[in-house]
Amino acid sequence: MGQDQKLESKKLEKRVCQNCQKEFTIEPENFEFYEKIKVPAPTWCPECRGQRRMNFNNVSSLYKRKCDSCGENIIAVYPEEVEFPVYCPKCWWSDKWDASDYARDYDLNKPFFEQLRELKNEVPRVSLEVDYQRNINSPYANLCGPLKNCYLTFLTDTAEDCAYIFSGDNLKDCFDCTNVASAENSYGLFYSAKMYHSFFSRECENCLNVYFCKNLKNCQNCFGCVNLRNKSYCIFNKQYSKEDYQKQLQELLTGSHQAQETIKQKVEEFFLRFPNKYIHGESNLNVSGDYIYHCKNTHNSYGIIEGENVKYCKMLEMGPTKDCYDYDSWGQKAEKVYEAVHCGDGINNIKFSNGAWQSYNVEYSDNPLFSHDIFGCVFTNKKSYCILNKQYSKGEYFPMVEKIKKHMNEMPYIDKQDRVYKYGEFFPPELSPFAYNETIAQEYFPLTKEEAKKKGYRWKEREKRNYNITLKTEDIPDNIKDVDNSILKEVIECATNSEEEKAKNNCSEAFKIIPQELEFYKKMNLPLPRYCPNCRHHQRLKNRNPLKLYKRTCMKEGCNNTFETTYAPNRPEIVYCEECYNREVN
Ligand SMILES: [Zn+2]
Ligand SMILES: [Zn+2]
Ligand SMILES: [Zn+2]
Ligand SMILES: [Zn+2]
Repeated sequence: MGQDQKLESKKLEKRVCQNCQKEFTIEPENFEFYEKIKVPAPTWCPECRGQRRMNFNNVSSLYKRKCDSCGENIIAVYPEEVEFPVYCPKCWWSDKWDASDYARDYDLNKPFFEQLRELKNEVPRVSLEVDYQRNINSPYANLCGPLKNCYLTFLTDTAEDCAYIFSGDNLKDCFDCTNVASAENSYGLFYSAKMYHSFFSRECENCLNVYFCKNLKNCQNCFGCVNLRNKSYCIFNKQYSKEDYQKQLQELLTGSHQAQETIKQKVEEFFLRFPNKYIHGESNLNVSGDYIYHCKNTHNSYGIIEGENVKYCKMLEMGPTKDCYDYDSWGQKAEKVYEAVHCGDGINNIKFSNGAWQSYNVEYSDNPLFSHDIFGCVFTNKKSYCILNKQYSKGEYFPMVEKIKKHMNEMPYIDKQDRVYKYGEFFPPELSPFAYNETIAQEYFPLTKEEAKKKGYRWKEREKRNYNITLKTEDIPDNIKDVDNSILKEVIECATNSEEEKAKNNCSEAFKIIPQELEFYKKMNLPLPRYCPNCRHHQRLKNRNPLKLYKRTCMKEGCNNTFETTYAPNRPEIVYCEECYNREVN
């Protein structure tokens, strides 16, 4: 209440987005933030800014190519045809080359971004961001820590014997999981933690042997349950004796794909009868957004843990983060970060940059590592007082930076869409080494090819697949019992058939079953999947509401509490305020 009144007494400002031409609001506290970190107010709206940043973060689009240094065949996030050299991690991290080899003088006859683009096109980039010295037998992985025997694993800190993981930590024998921390012997989990031997479940914590469940805590042996705490032997929220539960479970888990589809449908219908909290989150003070935990003054943000004074941010699931606006991925002791993507682990005062790690006082730089006081640099490692990778003395550096900022305003970069980039804008889309649909932007803000091109983003045509599909979707055996090792040789058709859906999911059209996966399905009595790993990931993502907030009233009869929620008013779910929800669920 007091907070609202205070905000009302200050002035909001409405501006028109330079990109989408829609009106957006700049709140008084935003102006305070911009003043504090000495940047002008944004000219793009929050959503357009988010798309522009995420367009620099390719998590999972992989290509086969050669290392431009040693010539080995490698897997990379860059296809062969990119302009800049791509090195395997071993070559890239070696002493063979140095970023200062590409240093250049600042040219007052060219806009800044043009010069930065020229530099970016020459400096070698690393094929994959992995802990390559502690990566054992896991070549298809990106943005990962130590992995062992993993396949198609992304944004994952540590994992062993896993495949098809998007965002995880401390996993063992898990397949097809998205946003999962500490899990073992599990399949098809979404936004869950501390899970053991659990399947097709979401928003669960500290559970064992749960199947097709949603929002359970400290539960064991449950099937098709929702909103339960400290329960066991329940089916569709009904209590059974241990013996009856086990008998029922045997009948439910037949290993048949068709039976599984029927269960999934029944479960989703059942879930709709139970209330949802207006926000996925806990232990917060004054927040808005979704998937927010242990945060203070965090707004319009998604996937934040331990944030304070955070706004328009996403994917900061490693805390803490403080005083950050417009910052996506990854956090871990980050302070005063603005318009940045994929930065973290001990960073301070980072603006208009990507890939900053253990660095401070950085502007307009691409992957500064252990660096400070740098401007417009690409892949500097342990450097300071550099501009366009060129070393300056401390005395020369600061006046030169001021001169460049002035130059950026006097001779701004203007792109093909006539958008103007002065000091205070993030990198123009064409400076990204990736096409829009190769990046995580496509996950958070899906666009069609036409929409992306209209906004000035590049689009990667899906490669003409020359797969020789040997097994059609309809010919996959219904029951896992009828599958033998010959399946490992098959190239299986992905069941997605709409072209639009394929483009949205980055569908690979066909897929294979790997041996450890088959063994897992057999052991767990799970039918074979019908979709490629990318489509499976996108199906799980449908459980996350789109990033948009709606003002709504609690649906509990007699309650008039209002809140901002990602549940759109036309959605079928029952949505409660915190008090009503806690009364019913906890
Ligand atoms: Zn806009
Ligand atoms: Zn190499
Ligand atoms: Zn697919
Ligand atoms: Zn209520």
